[in-house]
Order: sequence, then structure tokens, then C-alpha cells
Amino acid sequence: MATSGIITGIVSNLVTVSCDGPVSQNEICYISTQGTKLMAEVIKVNGRYASIQVFESTRGVKNGDRVEFTDKMLEVTLGPGLLSSCYDGLQNDLTTMTGVFLKRGEYTPALDSEKKWAFTPEASVGDTVEAADWLGEVKEGWLPHKIMVPFSFKGEYTIKWLAPAGEYTVNDKIATLTGEEGDVDVTMCQKWPVKVAIKCYKEKPRPERIMETGVRVIDTLNPIAEGGTGFIPGPFGCGKTVLQHAIAKQGDADVIVMAACGERANEVVEIFTEFPELIDPHTGRHLMERTTIICNTSNMPVAAREASVYTAMTICEYYRAMGLKVLLLADSTSRWAQALREMSNRMEELPGADAFPVDLSAIISNFYARAGMVVLNNGKRGSVTFIGTVSPAGGNLKEPVTESTKKAARCFYALEQNRADKKRYPSVNPIDSYSKYLEYPEIADYLDKTVEHGWVEKVNRTKNIIRKGKDAADQINILGDDGVPMSYHEMFWKSELVDFVILQQDAFDAIDALCPLERQRYMLDMVLDICAKEFEFEDFEECAAKFKEMINFFRQMNYSEFKSAQFEIYKAEIEKLVEQYGK
Ligand code: ADP
Ligand code: MG
Repeated sequence: MATSGIITGIVSNLVTVSCDGPVSQNEICYISTQGTKLMAEVIKVNGRYASIQVFESTRGVKNGDRVEFTDKMLEVTLGPGLLSSCYDGLQNDLTTMTGVFLKRGEYTPALDSEKKWAFTPEASVGDTVEAADWLGEVKEGWLPHKIMVPFSFKGEYTIKWLAPAGEYTVNDKIATLTGEEGDVDVTMCQKWPVKVAIKCYKEKPRPERIMETGVRVIDTLNPIAEGGTGFIPGPFGCGKTVLQHAIAKQGDADVIVMAACGERANEVVEIFTEFPELIDPHTGRHLMERTTIICNTSNMPVAAREASVYTAMTICEYYRAMGLKVLLLADSTSRWAQALREMSNRMEELPGADAFPVDLSAIISNFYARAGMVVLNNGKRGSVTFIGTVSPAGGNLKEPVTESTKKAARCFYALEQNRADKKRYPSVNPIDSYSKYLEYPEIADYLDKTVEHGWVEKVNRTKNIIRKGKDAADQINILGDDGVPMSYHEMFWKSELVDFVILQQDAFDAIDALCPLERQRYMLDMVLDICAKEFEFEDFEECAAKFKEMINFFRQMNYSEFKSAQFEIYKAEIEKLVEQYGK
């Protein structure tokens, strides 16, 4: 008999229940109230009492209401049909509804149970298999979607029966496996508890290649590894969402999962309306065909935000087990941390810094650690690359969520108010931002081979130009234009050249938005050649004027088709200037 209980206390979404049997941490339960059932999760057990966080408004819930425990943790349903879906944090399908609001106590099935999928078997009767081994494949859009032995299966099984090629629904039996405890049937879908990492793989080596994003500040200066982690902290309005969407559109990934914990309600609606319209620049098809969106509807309380990032990560791990490259984008993880804070405060736990839970750092690290590249049991590779945004209150990068995330993520793309104010987008601060992957010998090797020998050295040289330019600008500010030698002006303008040509990128221009690595390298080489030169100018005014002219031509190049006639014309203009003034 499952445990049940009676409500004895309510503080907003935190409800205390007196239980008649054992309950476990993170178990899911349902409150029966006013003729509906509200879903909740156990977050603390203390003797007979369980504290549960309710995923919906607790309006009208009263002492004495009954609670039924399920003996199950919060689970996500995994199977074909996840792509092109929009879910909330509890995997309710939001596309089947009018608007984005579910009625309270209403839960919708995650996968379409009627749709038929064309299954092709890939294993054979008699094969020995274990959890996550591939039994067959269906085509989800144009992506191969592997049907796997459920992750929860322990030990070895023999395939006793495997469905022949044909059309099946997600709930039809597609295999019978014989294990130690007898025969078990397998369908095309399975469930998995979201807070547990799926670890059905052989090993998780260090990342060894980069994931191209088409965004120059990332790829050229601070590349993110495939299977790597990064985060984008930035004050409100600095371009976090635009940058993440640019990465989603162009990132070299097979599957994209967007977890939107909207800052404002209209952002969530925007993602619903805009994302399905986007065209994938790599294939010319709708980006949504290989995307799953998990978002929190604005009528959902904070507790559901916490669930959504886990649901998103679990879906990523599922596709990774098929040998695919998955990209997870979470915007913004601060909302998730705030949900943790609210619950911890209501439970009157001893607070950590800024009233966040004391284990905030561990929670964030554990979450980021679920990303990564893995070698599957069959030797193939899959990866989950994770980029989260953080919105620190008042742009203060010393606040606990940013600090904790900094420890967990390997790439740091700090957006800066100052740059955003000057419309220097993406407003990534080139000096404070970093990618630890540049220090990995595997990654340096990879860049040597795929981009160019000695690439990392070039990147460092570029960063140096930016740093020196900033120092020169500081000096000019203090001593005045005439108070410094001409070389300072030159240094400053060289860094401006890097800034305008390499760092800045218009996310809304059809050509500039997507800059492949080959083009990035070409532009960087041109810019570095100029920076290596010394120039002869009459005075600082001429220096500024000529550099501005150059920058203008460069920007026109960025807006032109790579190596088109127009592109070459601008290039020739730049060369003329360099010849005229360069020593
Ligand atoms: P945040 O998510 O940090 O609050 P947004 O991503 O919504 O900020 O960006 C705010 C605005 O900044 C955008 O509406 C857009 O006008 C501008 N912006 C941001 N990034 C770029 C970019 N790369 N190119 C052009 N405009 C940008
Ligand atoms: Mg935003």
C-alpha cells in the first residue's frame, strides 16, 4: 500500500504533511483538493512529517486535505516525439493547448500515443544487450532516433524477440528481453527520474574538440568545447537571450534543448512564437524539427522552475545516448537558483550567502557536471554541451549564483553594461571573459589541426592587442590626446579595429549573424596583419580618421557574402590604405 498523509501546515508552496508510512526524499505526491489533484515533490523528511513543494498554486488548499504518495521520483518520459515539442517543467505538452496556460491540476501526456513511427530493427534475436544499447531506429524528422534498452535495466539481457520493421506507436511492444528475473517487454518509450544523471556509457573523457557557434567572440577568442560548459552572466538587457538564441541557431549540434525560465512572461511567449519560425542555416529546414523547448509558464510557481532545468538535462542525456551532439541552453539559471532560495527560506533552513541555500554551489556544480562528451558502450560518441545564462542583480558578478557557476562552468562570457550601452554587441567583455578549454592540450591540438597550426598563440596575441588598447585608452584619458606619444593612439585604434571587426557582430544581419570558422580565421589574419604594422600619420587626428575608414570597410566586408566581388572591393580599399600609411 502506498503511503498517504494529511496536510498539517501550508506556507505558500511549502506544505507539511503528516504521513502514515515511509516516504522518500524527492518522491512525487498528489494533494487532493477541491476536486483536483495537485502535483508536489518531497523536499524534506523529518520523522512522520514530510515537507513537500507543490508545483502549482496552493490557493484553497487546507489542513486536513489528503496527500497520496507515489513511491516514484519526478520522472520524464523519453521516446520519439520529444523533438519539436514545447513542454513545461513537468513535461506537460504546451503545444496541444490554446495559449500557454494549463488549468490547475491538469497534466497532459508528454508523447503522442497514437502517432506511428517507422521502426527498423538494428539488433538481432539472441544478442546480449544492456541498458542504453541500441535495439533499432526510427526517424524523428530527419534525425536517427535510437530505440534503446531502458536505462533502468540492470545487468545483461538476451533479446528473445524483436519487432520486425514496421509502424509502431510509442507504447507498442518492440522487443522482449530475457534477463535474470525472466522476460521483460520493451516499448519505444521509457521513464527516468530527472534528478538522476543517466550514466549508461563506457567513459566520459575530457572534451577534445570545439563546438563551432558562428559567433566570433566565442569561436575565435574563447571557444567552447563540444561537451563543454559555459555561462553568460550579464545585467538585464545586455543581450544574454540574443546571444543564446544565436548559439542555438548556428551551433554545430544535432539536437537543441532550450530551457527557458523566463525573466518576464512575454519572453516565454516570444520563444513560443519566434522559435518555431526560425530556419536552420545548416539544413534550410525549421530549426524546431530538432529542438525541444522546456519553459515555465508564468502561472507556474517557482518550484516548477527547478524541475525544468532537470527535465531539460535529462532529455539531453537521452539524445546523447544515441550518439548525438546535443546543445542545452538555459535562460536564466538565476531564476532556478531563486526558486531554491525561496524554498529553503520557507523551510527555515540556515541560509548561506544572500540567503541562498548553503549547498547552492554543490547543486550548481552537480548540474553542470552532467554535461560532457561520453564514449558509449558501442564505442560511438555523444555529447551534451551546456550554456546557461545568469542574471546577477545589478550586474554584480560577486553574487553567489555567478560565483558558484564560475566554479562549475569552464567558459565565462561576461556581458557588460558599458558595452551594451555603446551598442557594441555582443557585449561580451573581451578582457574578463575566458575559456579554460584553450589551456587543454587536446583542444590546442585540435585547433592546430582543424583551424591552423599555432592558432592558440594567435588568439592570445589578439587578446593582448585588446588589453594594450585599453591601457592606451586609459593613458589618453588621463594625459589628453596630445599628452601621449603617437604610438598610444595607434595602439588604441588597433584594439578598436579588433573590437569592431572581430568582437562586434550583428545578430540581426542575415550574413554577419553566422560567421563560419574559416571566415573568422580569414578576418582575424587580416586584422592581425594590420596590427603587426607600424603606421606613419601626421597626427592623432589623421590616425583616428584613417583607422575609422579602415574599420568602415571591414564592417562592409562583414556584411558581404564571403569572398564575393563586393567583399574583394572592400578588401582592396583596406589594402590601399595600409600601403599608403603603413611603414
Ligand atoms: P537580456 O536577455 O540580457 O535581458 P536581450 O538578449 O533581450 O537581453 O537583449 C536586449 C537587446 O539588445 C535586444 O533586444 C537587441 O536589441 C540588443 N542586442 C543584443 N545582442 C545583440 C546583437 N548581437 N546584435 C544586435 N543587437 C543586439
Ligand atoms: Mg533575456
